[in-house]
Amino acid sequence: MPSFVNVEKCDGCKALDKTACQYICPNDLMVLDKEKMKAYNREPEMCWECYNCVKICPTQAVDVRGYADFVPMGASVVPLRSTDSIMWTVKFRSGQVKRFKFPIRTTPEGQAQPAGGFGGDPGLDGPVLFTEPDSLGCDVWLK
Ligand code: SF4
Ligand code: SF4
Repeated sequence: MPSFVNVEKCDGCKALDKTACQYICPNDLMVLDKEKMKAYNREPEMCWECYNCVKICPTQAVDVRGYADFVPMGASVVPLRSTDSIMWTVKFRSGQVKRFKFPIRTTPEGQAQPAGGFGGDPGLDGPVLFTEPDSLGCDVWLK
């Protein structure tokens, strides 16, 4: 199910120009109601359920409920972000709680290679599409 905002917890990112959920959404779905200072998902049917907004929200106000076939009714999955990791808390409807901790990233910020180590221009301005053989310097299609 698409993301939704718990208005009790959302503080509008304390009136910053662009909220964290607006900044991170790859589909540009999150918007801020500036009168109420609450964010919302303006097009839920376009949501990829990528969890980016859930992970970045500083107040844990955004939730994405898993579908009932793999997340039974009443269960929840809540991320808590620190500077170097995310602690996921999974609560089952039986009351059982499990926690998993994962590093946020393995590449230091600003050091990701846009071309994935293949070198050359990713082709954003050129006629070839990145990952097509020409852009990777290959002369044959891989089969
Ligand atoms: S990131 Fe969280 S607190 Fe900030 S505007 Fe979005 S939902 Fe509200
Ligand atoms: S789950 Fe992903 S696609 Fe959906 S609103 Fe959040 S950031 Fe955007």
